[in-house]
Amino acid sequence: MPGTAAARSDARSDRKVPVGVDPTRASIARVYDAFLNGKDNYEIDREVLRGVQKAAPEAQELAFENRGFLIRACRFLATQTGITQFLDCGSGLPTAENIHQVVQRVNPDATVVYIDNDPVVLAHGRALLEENEQTHFISADIFQPQEIMESEEIRRHIDFSQPIAFLQLGTLHHYDGPRERPAEMMREYLEYLPSGSYVAISHFLDPENEHSEVARRMEHMFLHSPMGSGTFRTRAELEELFDGLEMVPPGLELCAKWWPDGPQLKPLNQVQYCIAGGIGRKP
Ligand code: SAM
Repeated sequence: MPGTAAARSDARSDRKVPVGVDPTRASIARVYDAFLNGKDNYEIDREVLRGVQKAAPEAQELAFENRGFLIRACRFLATQTGITQFLDCGSGLPTAENIHQVVQRVNPDATVVYIDNDPVVLAHGRALLEENEQTHFISADIFQPQEIMESEEIRRHIDFSQPIAFLQLGTLHHYDGPRERPAEMMREYLEYLPSGSYVAISHFLDPENEHSEVARRMEHMFLHSPMGSGTFRTRAELEELFDGLEMVPPGLELCAKWWPDGPQLKPLNQVQYCIAGGIGRKP
């Protein structure tokens, strides 16, 4: 049905599949792009979105709240901490406002190193994220702390004798190994960070209240989807990810409530209770 609206909309990305990319398998980065209404996703990725929307019609709020937190957290780090180097684990596909744009608007000399392992992110990231000489894109596995922190490629751009902003935003809930491993990983990462560094984390939350059931339903859909990951952890489990850090006020909080851009006039919806974030400083 060439020429029809359906054909055009399906062709928006499915026709230009980069070499080495399998459009029959969902990818975390492309599913996230679909949640954000982006264009770099395939039908299999949109299927994951539709599945989670069956569990909660407002499911896209997970991504929008996460991205809002990312922007506010990075703006805070750039304006208030004096930090000039940002190490971003799991960058995702380029979107409306990327970390280097947020922090280099405050300080044009800030260095940003993006890490991801998705081939589509790699293709688009190298083209769109490496916009200037202070912005770099590296392909590596963010669930291997030692490899990341000892990587020569990363150390070429990040000075480990100076404080670093270390970012794990919307990433650790996609680790599909043992439940306690992300907290261990963060402790390993922390050992490499110099004193005065800041760590920002956002993560799916099981709020353990009347919204717990929707968190469990979304988790079930994510885990049984063609993407296969998305763990909702309790507040106590999320606090463990910040072990050894001094929390910046307001501490671990719903992303929607972490220094929002303005007063909250509308009540939060059920999904906004299911994602939290925070920033801690290494003493
Ligand atoms: N950090 C961005 C944000 O908060 O908007 C993107 C979050 S997106 C949900 C998670 C990203 O982590 C994806 O781009 C995915 O490719 C990447 N990722 C997942 N597992 C990874 C791994 N083992 N190594 C490197 N990147 C990974």
